[in-house]
Amino acid sequence: MKKHFETEAVRTQSRKSSNREHSVPLYLTSSFVFDNAEQGRALFADEIEGNIYSRFSNPNTSEFIEKMAALEHAEDGFAFATGMAAIFVGFGALLQSGDHVLACRSLFGSSHQLLTKVLPKWGITHSYVDASSPELWEKEIRKNTRMIFIETPSNPGLELIDLEWLGNLKRKHNILLSVDNCFATPYLQTPVDFGADLVIHSATKFIDGQGRVLGGVIVGKKDLIKEVRFFSRHTGPAMSPFNAWLLSKSLETLAVRMDRHCFNALALAVQLEKHPEIEFVKYPFLQSHPQYALAKKQMKQGGGVVTFAVKGGYERAKRFIDAIQMLSSTANLGDTRTTVTHPASTTHSKLTDEERAKVGIVPGLIRISAGLEHIDDILADVEQALSKSR
Ligand SMILES: *Cc1c(COP(=O)(O)O)cnc(C)c1O
Repeated sequence: MKKHFETEAVRTQSRKSSNREHSVPLYLTSSFVFDNAEQGRALFADEIEGNIYSRFSNPNTSEFIEKMAALEHAEDGFAFATGMAAIFVGFGALLQSGDHVLACRSLFGSSHQLLTKVLPKWGITHSYVDASSPELWEKEIRKNTRMIFIETPSNPGLELIDLEWLGNLKRKHNILLSVDNCFATPYLQTPVDFGADLVIHSATKFIDGQGRVLGGVIVGKKDLIKEVRFFSRHTGPAMSPFNAWLLSKSLETLAVRMDRHCFNALALAVQLEKHPEIEFVKYPFLQSHPQYALAKKQMKQGGGVVTFAVKGGYERAKRFIDAIQMLSSTANLGDTRTTVTHPASTTHSKLTDEERAKVGIVPGLIRISAGLEHIDDILADVEQALSKSR
């Protein structure tokens, strides 16, 4: 029987060991012993399933993958040391020299660097399309377009792409669709239901949710994951068992954490929109968001991240960051602690002014990832920093 999200997140567990433990133990072992030479041969020949070496699989990573696949409605997956390792393998394992990637313009900074500076070394080209102009996507498809890669909502612009529409487009042209679902998490949105072939996460963010470990995961169709697994087994980006053990536990609280992240983020967005020192606020579940209707259609809630522009541009934004007292000034997001970032001078500083302008990263843009503190304390800190930085 299919269980609810919360139940799946708590109850998907690997088989108990002979110790009958209730909480899953940590398997810190680099390799696994063979019962006999014949079993070793059969394992290496893929005739039977089982653990061989922790670069290939480990009970902790397997449990984490199984849970993520269940939550994302996917068939299988593989876990990585970081989100970027997962994104890199998503391209590396499935593309060849001569292939073309169609991507949304507003992407996580390192994904942008990967597409523009790294993949061209192997003859993989790309073009960017604005998320907000769906009519352009189909025009940009070339004969050699093999994959569409998107984020929705995007970081930090919080632009959305219609997953149902994109699923139809990819089917019509027989192109793979790969979605970085880091901002929404499977609790708010499951791209597989719309036809996504791969769903990728930086588990470093809301999945861990406590700012402790890095991690990444790809889930998707079985035949594609087979390629991903082969590529990863021989290039070595696997997640450590310790991180998988933590992240599997983190998933047990994902739903309750996301409810609070979303509640706090919406309250902050509503409050900021009324503030005279703010030029604009962007949050998917604010009625003023240009894609509010789409957000309501494809997301359960608006997510944990709010972006806004302070009046006074780059210098004011830096003064605002320096005036913050309680919230954390850091590049991470999706933490129990509310984090504040100035993308133009940090996470997206490698982009040119023109590239930043195209994805809506104005000089005064601030990104807040609402944590789990009491909303009144978050609001108070933001308010005092806005007055002090004037
Ligand atoms: C952080 C992030 C990544 C990269 O993940 P790491 O775990 O830091 O490697 C990729 N995509 C998005 C949307 C992110 O926010």
